[in-house]
Amino acid sequence: MTLVVRCDDRAALAVALGGSRGDRAPVAFVPTMGALHEGHRALVERAATLAPTVVVSIFVNPTQFDAATDLATYPRTLSEDLALLEEVAGATGVRVVAYVPSVHDVYPDGAVATVHVPEVTVHLCGARRPGHFDGVATVVDALLRAVRPTVMILGRKDFQQLVVVRALVEQAGHDVVIDAAPTVRADDGVAISSRNTLLAPDGRMLARRIPRALAAGVALVAAARAAGSSVETAALRSVVVQELTVEGLRIDYVDVVDPLRIVPVEGSHDPELPLLLAVAVHVGDEPATVRLIDNVLLGDREDELRLLRASAAGRMTGNGS
Ligand code: AMP
Repeated sequence: MTLVVRCDDRAALAVALGGSRGDRAPVAFVPTMGALHEGHRALVERAATLAPTVVVSIFVNPTQFDAATDLATYPRTLSEDLALLEEVAGATGVRVVAYVPSVHDVYPDGAVATVHVPEVTVHLCGARRPGHFDGVATVVDALLRAVRPTVMILGRKDFQQLVVVRALVEQAGHDVVIDAAPTVRADDGVAISSRNTLLAPDGRMLARRIPRALAAGVALVAAARAAGSSVETAALRSVVVQELTVEGLRIDYVDVVDPLRIVPVEGSHDPELPLLLAVAVHVGDEPATVRLIDNVLLGDREDELRLLRASAAGRMTGNGS
């Protein structure tokens, strides 16, 4: 028996969800680009604890790709994705709706990025991938209008995206709570990503250096805390860069930023202060490299939790690590 309701357009989705938002049961929404993995599974399972109906969108959004080859090679595994959702539906007992729209359904007037979120999109991936966050903001805006969820679950692996979407929600006045889920990692520490399947075996081995590099940053902060000294962000960047400086890896960025505003932090700081250490690395041989991102929040755990819950309207939630 098929448990998952598949909807290929917003008209079918509206029928499946039924009624106006006020009349129907709460909906938890997990937006994805498919090629679902254990990280996505954790988000869907978390969604299942938050509402009786879970909508998972599977849409490879063309407007957020800044390179045509990246869009062309992005993994697409729809039947496996639906099988994973069937498993979660069976295990949790919630109603799972898979929204699998076409480009035309999401962008009836043409695939043009129209929504821009200022400030938090300037640095990190915003600086390296022109137009990327306009594409993200545009698609999330369109998806929120189609799904009208009460809560949306996003992963902290894409930390800047989380902050951008939170800003979009404020800016556009969407009535939705954002839930921030922890990063799911493989046993060797590598953050699970759809793009990991594109790595050659030696690239997958090299990718282990990314969590190791972040751990070196965490250790430096822990040492400063134990010694009662301050943390130099230049020193922090340098231990991370050192771990990532090896043949087969090309650093795109290693940055230390304010996690709420996503602006670089320079100088020396109290090790209890929340800082986001974020990296983007090209893995493998040119030109067919795979760009991976990862991050870790540094500083006091209580501050981290407060930070993840914080927003102008107090809408964002999150716990765990
Ligand atoms: P994507 O399909 O890559 O666009 O990701 C869809 C959602 O899953 C985003 O909110 C991501 O942050 C989240 N996500 C991707 N990988 C992970 C992971 N390893 N752990 C937790 N969340 C993840």
